[in-house]
Amino acid sequence: MKRATEFDDLADPTFSAAVIGWQKQHGRHALPWQNTRDAYRIWLSEIMLQQTQVSAVLGYYARFLERFPTLADLAAAPSEDVMALWSGLGYYTRARNLHACAKRVMAEYGGVFPSDPALLAQLPGIGRSTAAAIAAFSSGTRAAILDGNVKRVFARTFGVDQFPGLKPVEDALWRRADALLPAEGIESYTQGLMDLGATLCTRSSPDCGRCPLQQRCVAFATGRTAELPVRKPKKAVPEKQAVLMAVVDGGQVLLEQRPDSGIWGGLMSLPELDGHQACDGAIPIDDVVRAAGVFGDVEETEALMPLVHVFTHYKLHIAPYRIAIAKRAELDSGYVWWDLARIEQAPLPAPVKKLLAQLAMPGLFG
Ligand code: SF4
Repeated sequence: MKRATEFDDLADPTFSAAVIGWQKQHGRHALPWQNTRDAYRIWLSEIMLQQTQVSAVLGYYARFLERFPTLADLAAAPSEDVMALWSGLGYYTRARNLHACAKRVMAEYGGVFPSDPALLAQLPGIGRSTAAAIAAFSSGTRAAILDGNVKRVFARTFGVDQFPGLKPVEDALWRRADALLPAEGIESYTQGLMDLGATLCTRSSPDCGRCPLQQRCVAFATGRTAELPVRKPKKAVPEKQAVLMAVVDGGQVLLEQRPDSGIWGGLMSLPELDGHQACDGAIPIDDVVRAAGVFGDVEETEALMPLVHVFTHYKLHIAPYRIAIAKRAELDSGYVWWDLARIEQAPLPAPVKKLLAQLAMPGLFG
């Protein structure tokens, strides 16, 4: 018996039928690069539309065609002219690739874009999705697109609960995109997916009430349109370490004034052991004893339970030590001996206060 796989049920002709039907009735039909099979015009629009909205592209598209009516005109132009005309549209690598691509198509294909998406995808600036769109619109080739808008529509419709930029997730979406291609009407289907993503299934406020996919949309059914697609996972926050010395003597703890800037600026805290800010290994107890020696005669040193404090930009691992001293040294005005019994009133950062509150518990440390 054939084992069911994750992708056995991906094909679904009713999906493309819904998209095509909606596109024909409600989609966009009068954009300047529509209603043509001219690959040059279609390619130019697809490159301009990468990362840029239709409204911003319209003027540039018209000016480009006026200045470079054919692919040959564009290929022959000085690169400064191409860059100058692109100026303001952003993502300038696109303009350099556009020019390079025009020259390649002139040199390798006699000025005629190939219709095979695999060949198109080898040209500068044309990825797999753009190649499929150009092939679909210029020659009716059945090929799947998967740009950012389509990923969003798929992630919501099929309830993809992983970040779509992850390679395995993206690969699975491509398989789905391939499986969903209609037998006929690739132009309307491709345009329909683009239109849905751009006009209804928008990033921040999808108009589900008018969406042809609503009946099958997992995000809509489960109220997760705001959560899907899953955002890019945040980079791991950097981790730092602070070795804090709770120097105690006769029911008092030594506090140090912190500089005005930096973390816990202006507050008091415990003296810190220099040179152990990186979380990269054990802290030699000798260093702690030596550093604490400037505050008095060290009688006893004890490692306390470590704490973790999360700041906006990093995570601080606090390695606290309790150091009992016998004879206090003379210290400058940046230090103060504070009664542990009234530690709650000290101007301390929350994690340090918490740490010292434990230290102040009667009987805990004798
Ligand atoms: S129902 Fe809403 S969330 Fe689902 S595909 Fe349509 S517009 Fe997007």
